[in-house]
Amino acid sequence: MPGIDFRAVRAVAQMQEVLELLQFTASESSDDQLRGPCPVHGSQGDHSRSFSVNLAKQTYQCFKCGSKGNQLDLWANANSLSLHAAAIDLCERLGLAVPWIGRW
Ligand SMILES: [Zn+2]
Repeated sequence: MPGIDFRAVRAVAQMQEVLELLQFTASESSDDQLRGPCPVHGSQGDHSRSFSVNLAKQTYQCFKCGSKGNQLDLWANANSLSLHAAAIDLCERLGLAVPWIGRW
């Protein structure tokens, strides 16, 4: 299977779009920081603040389950997919071309 340019995926698939696909609703937001229930371990209750997102840096971290990374890691972890599968899935959902490496 050809490789995928994960950097290219992250350049076009924004953290905000990943959060929307995950139906994330922030319980708290200020500037580029959002907090709310964690889509990775599935926090119970809308008032959970264990999950923290930095929209400017496109990173996230959960203080409860310890999951962290960029928006592609988030999609992979929240859906129990490999990074490779997550990149393909995310591109398809957002209507983007998958940036394959060395296919041609
Ligand atoms: Zn979590």
